[in-house]
Amino acid sequence: MRDIEQSCFWLATRQDVAENPPLQSNCDADIAIVGAGFTGLWTAFFLKQLEPGLDIVVVEQGVAGYGGSGRNAGIVSACIDHSHALAITHFGRSEAAKLARLGMENIDELAQFASDCDFQRTGLLQVALTAKHLEDCKENMAVAEGLGIKDYRLLSQDEVRAEINSPLYLGAGFVSGGGIINPVKLVDKIKREATRLGVRFFERTRVLAIDGSSVRAEGGTVKARRQVILATDAYSHHLFPKLLFRFIPLYDYILVSEPLTEAQRGAIGWHNRQGVTDGRTFFNYYRLTEDHRILWGTSEANYYPPNRVDQQCDHSEHHYATLRESFKRHFPQLSDLEFVYAWGGPIASTTRLTPFFGTLAGGKILYGLGYTGHGIGSTRVAGKILAHLALKLPSELLELKMVREKPFPYPPEPLRSLSVKMVTHSLRRVDRGDNPNALLRLLDAMGIGFSS
Ligand SMILES: Cc1cc2nc3c(=O)[nH]c(=O)nc-3n(C[C@H](O)[C@H](O)[C@H](O)COP(=O)(O)OP(=O)(O)OC[C@H]3O[C@@H](n4cnc5c(N)ncnc54)[C@H](O)[C@@H]3O)c2cc1C
Repeated sequence: MRDIEQSCFWLATRQDVAENPPLQSNCDADIAIVGAGFTGLWTAFFLKQLEPGLDIVVVEQGVAGYGGSGRNAGIVSACIDHSHALAITHFGRSEAAKLARLGMENIDELAQFASDCDFQRTGLLQVALTAKHLEDCKENMAVAEGLGIKDYRLLSQDEVRAEINSPLYLGAGFVSGGGIINPVKLVDKIKREATRLGVRFFERTRVLAIDGSSVRAEGGTVKARRQVILATDAYSHHLFPKLLFRFIPLYDYILVSEPLTEAQRGAIGWHNRQGVTDGRTFFNYYRLTEDHRILWGTSEANYYPPNRVDQQCDHSEHHYATLRESFKRHFPQLSDLEFVYAWGGPIASTTRLTPFFGTLAGGKILYGLGYTGHGIGSTRVAGKILAHLALKLPSELLELKMVREKPFPYPPEPLRSLSVKMVTHSLRRVDRGDNPNALLRLLDAMGIGFSS
């Protein structure tokens, strides 16, 4: 089994790693955080900003960024919900406008913080591969404008192909605000800042159980005087199976190529380096890296029953073959490009495609998870939310419906596998051009927006 720290481009090319030693004895802290991905790291960082005297311990089973935070595509959206249209469906128009404003403020602050993490605010292109996608792009632009976002714009076929030269493009929507980042540089930056503020980290230390305020880990127990925070996203059910009621763990897969030559770069254009997605439900997402490689991923995520999240799921030859094939269809002029990195990672998906928050053990444990493949921007907001909740401090963020309300539940197994199969099959047909079937229409009517 290829190790993720060698197969994931970001982790394999990580520089100046300052790994902390594992936990080797019992200790106390005001706050114990489980998981050193973006959620755990931002929470630690904001807790220290709000109350500098706090003693905080973070326990991580791998290295910081071992989960989705180190394995993602690094395409940063300003949207902290999944899309503005879905935010209206789930939370109403005025809440969607508030989320749009908060998302924009968040990305501005993130850009300032991450100026040395290869963060380029290129904006994002949502490319249309069919006439229906083009209609959807127009609708997205209109929805954004209705929420007060003025600088999205529609690109014609010629305009989008002048940006990136693919024969499949019929047009695109340009979505401002976001961009591309090296996610592991961001992980390392937050960790460095948190360490500077006095946060203590224990890496390669798996938490075995959390009993109220006691975090029992390999090597010792951390006793939290004030709060335990669970920041384990798609791994959360390993410690609390009942959280599966609200999320499903899925695996996304990614390839990264060798660096493009001058001639290959000339053949594709892409001078403005935007992050790209397309209009399908199971879309491809792609971007350039700092050293001119192409990262090519798919949102056609895989569910491994029953709710498996383990190293056996880190690679899927089937997904890698499909990714290579889809890349060649998009960019035939680069059909001999070699992809030299390939990996997968877990995401926690909710029925409303946005995170949820709550408590366990009578309030001793706080959690926030379920970013559904869209966590780079929204984990920063989640960190603020969790920090305010932990310290019982007021914030407008705590009033958000996303924080106060839970998503519609997922069924347990064996119904879960069956419903995943049925919904996936239905969505594939929509991607092939069919209208949504009765099942998708029913889910839409229930406010479960998979087909949107
Ligand atoms: C392949 C892929 C592509 C993606 N692409 C994008 C993208 O382009 N843009 C975007 O915005 N989002 C993307 N995402 C989603 C984004 O990466 C996640 O939403 C985000 O990283 C979640 O952060 P987190 O800290 O909540 O979870 P994680 O990063 O998964 O962190 C959880 C941490 O908890 C640790 N942990 C779990 N259990 C234990 C335990 N028992 N003891 C100790 N530690 C434990 C894990 O090792 C892990 O480090 C992608 C995700 C994947 C997998």
